[in-house]
Amino acid sequence: MPERLFVCTPSKLGAYIDCPRRYRYTYVDRPSPPKGPPWAHNSLGASVHTALKNWFTLPPDRRAPGALPTLLKATWVREGYRDVDQERVAYRRALDWLESYVATLDPAEEPLGVERGVATKTAILALNGRADRIDGRAGPDGPEAVIVDYKTGRSGLDADDARGSQALALYAFAAQRVFRRPCRRVELHHLPTGTVAAHEHTEESLARQVRRAEETAIDIMAAEKAVAAGADPDESFPTNPGSLCGWCDFRKVCPAGAEVPAKEPWAAVEHLGG
Ligand code: SF4
Repeated sequence: MPERLFVCTPSKLGAYIDCPRRYRYTYVDRPSPPKGPPWAHNSLGASVHTALKNWFTLPPDRRAPGALPTLLKATWVREGYRDVDQERVAYRRALDWLESYVATLDPAEEPLGVERGVATKTAILALNGRADRIDGRAGPDGPEAVIVDYKTGRSGLDADDARGSQALALYAFAAQRVFRRPCRRVELHHLPTGTVAAHEHTEESLARQVRRAEETAIDIMAAEKAVAAGADPDESFPTNPGSLCGWCDFRKVCPAGAEVPAKEPWAAVEHLGG
């Protein structure tokens, strides 16, 4: 048993699972190595997320599609686009996605939480994170909580993505403790296609994901301990070269990433046109 709890978010654990070296650059090395330039797709995702967050701060009678341009403009993130034309096209698309999406929402419906922080502990983890939205819905045995995660990437998502997402499972695990009601259902809302990929967890499948998260935390703590005891940090946090390298903020400083051709900061929004 570890002597202290491992304080983490789902994305911190996910960073280690994706690539231990990227984890080290992000969370261990101080000062952190310099990152590459900002990505346009991150700007687009952040803009849409914030607009939806602010949508729910409006009184229900003002939750109308006409409010969206103001919301989106107010918190639009400009970084990473190739030029103003490309940014304009992305803005237009984002607005289209939002208009279609809010048409599916009941303006009178108040979620349990929007960009809501949830935190809980296990024997190993002090887990915290911020879910995009947590809905309260009627279940067969009473009120339930549902985790909603917005996605703005190029490709659609399916039930396997929802089932396999450790982050969604950990949010569900934390939410049922915070709200003291069952939270088994997790949903990925893909705004560009207007599709929802959902999965119903069981107690067992949530427990399995928590166990995996704990195993990851134990590996991370062991690697950190080894480095503190004098082990080679490059060996304790090995690279995991693959398709993620092209999109990695540390590609330039990582020996494995330096082999991979650079992607333009706007590469993931080029399909939108502009
Ligand atoms: S460039 Fe690739 S191997 Fe290097 S840290 Fe990033 S993801 Fe890991």
